[in-house]
Amino acid sequence: MATTQGTSAPTAALALLVFPGLADLSEQQVRGTACVWSGTPISTATAVDLGERKIRLLDGAISMFPRGCHGCTAEAARTALLAHAPVCEQCVDDADRCDTGRALRQIVRECRR
Ligand SMILES: [Zn+2]
Ligand SMILES: [Zn+2]
Repeated sequence: MATTQGTSAPTAALALLVFPGLADLSEQQVRGTACVWSGTPISTATAVDLGERKIRLLDGAISMFPRGCHGCTAEAARTALLAHAPVCEQCVDDADRCDTGRALRQIVRECRR
């Protein structure tokens, strides 16, 4: 399976990462030229594609394609994992068999460079 994304983790795991609200984002962050969390300017080489997000507005919805720097993406994945694992039956039972938990740990690993 070919992918152009910065990480091979499934979109379902990326969807668990929590972003700041649209009102708190700069134009660069909305366009994906700056990290959605820290605002650090990023290039294709340093960015992690976080997948498409639909943002609901008063008069409709827009799509944004946020990107993050490695440090922030690893941190967000760690936070998402801490929120996910205690409430996931599969993770409590056997964390290695949970696709979501595995994908989040993979993001942490791939981004911790
Ligand atoms: Zn960042
Ligand atoms: Zn799980």
